[in-house]
Amino acid sequence: MKTSSARLAGLGTTIFAEMSALALQTGSINLGQGFPDTEGPTEVVDRAVEALRGGRNQYTPGTGVPELRAAIAAHQRRFYGLVVDPDTEVAVTTGATEAIAGSVLGLVDPGDEVIVLEPYYDSYVAVIQMAGGVRRPVTLRAPDFRLPVDELRAAVSPRTTAILLNSPHNPTGTVLRRDELEAIAAVAIENDLVVISDEVYEHLTFDGTSHIPITTLPGMADRTLTISSGGKSFSFTGWKVGWATGPAPLVQAMVGAKQFLTYTSGAPLQPAIALALTSDDHFFETLRSQLQSQRDLLCDGLRDLGFDVFVPEGTYFATTDIRPLGFDDGLAFCRMLPERVGVVAIPHQAFYDDLEAGRPLVRWAFCKRPEVIDEALERLSVLR
Ligand code: PMP
Ligand code: GLN
Repeated sequence: MKTSSARLAGLGTTIFAEMSALALQTGSINLGQGFPDTEGPTEVVDRAVEALRGGRNQYTPGTGVPELRAAIAAHQRRFYGLVVDPDTEVAVTTGATEAIAGSVLGLVDPGDEVIVLEPYYDSYVAVIQMAGGVRRPVTLRAPDFRLPVDELRAAVSPRTTAILLNSPHNPTGTVLRRDELEAIAAVAIENDLVVISDEVYEHLTFDGTSHIPITTLPGMADRTLTISSGGKSFSFTGWKVGWATGPAPLVQAMVGAKQFLTYTSGAPLQPAIALALTSDDHFFETLRSQLQSQRDLLCDGLRDLGFDVFVPEGTYFATTDIRPLGFDDGLAFCRMLPERVGVVAIPHQAFYDDLEAGRPLVRWAFCKRPEVIDEALERLSVLR
């Protein structure tokens, strides 16, 4: 009996599932998988309950309920000055994960190459492989994790179809600067490539750094699919309400695949995320400043313990080099940590082709209450 397709070869179980299971088994503090331990806005939950009780429980239109598509379009205009047509240039998905899968399955043919920033989010690798595509990683390297523009240029071949971008970048916390985005845009335009831009951490940037969607750069609006999700912006990671925006033909390609993955996505949560998207500026500022202070608490604590800390400009995550504490393999370190210390973290190695570049790096989530971060640091002090 056949128990697995070649499409899944080598993909195994995601590192997030492995590490979250270890956290449960050992009663560890989970600084691995990125999810907040506080609730999103009450009025948003209330709107979801209202929708559940109010009969909004059947299939939505394939691209999502009109009020959410309108709210996504209004959000793009409010924050980035972008004009997108809610009827043809917006589609709601089951999390950003499905938007990524739909984009890749809808646009990549067997043998096509897709450039990804390494370390890469693990679902990119999986869906590129499922589509029969070939990934071409361009590595962001410690200590500053900036884009090596020459390596990006060198990664393009006649088979390149797309650049799958992620900024703010998980796991390094890099927020691509305008000059880096301009370089990527130039490569995309010269080589007639699609850019799939995963911007799920768009509102989670620190120290005054702003997120710039690459689609706002000259010549990019007609070749960029922009992906985001309500998970990170509103602290509802389990709701899995995501979306893609962009030119109608690219959105249509994504929807072409999406319609056969899930057909439609969770109906009663959509009006709630539509409401969340109208949150005032104060909401987004508070989210950012709270996370920034949690980042500082964790980064300062890890530095005091002796780790080399790379302070992120955005996302939920800080990266450390573990070598100053006498370890050299992040995977072995993260497998040891729950049992020995009672804390879970994520090894960068899971996100690299160039295993050497990721070997000593470990990612820690700071989207946790300050007392939880304090307790984790206390537990980690046995490593000192
Ligand atoms: N992209 C990146 C870079 C992520 O970190 C995540 C994590 N949730 C996702 C996509 C998936 O988002 P969602 O939960 O909305 O599917
Ligand atoms: N995006 C989150 C992370 O990077 C969650 C990932 C997941 O569970 N697939 O931790």
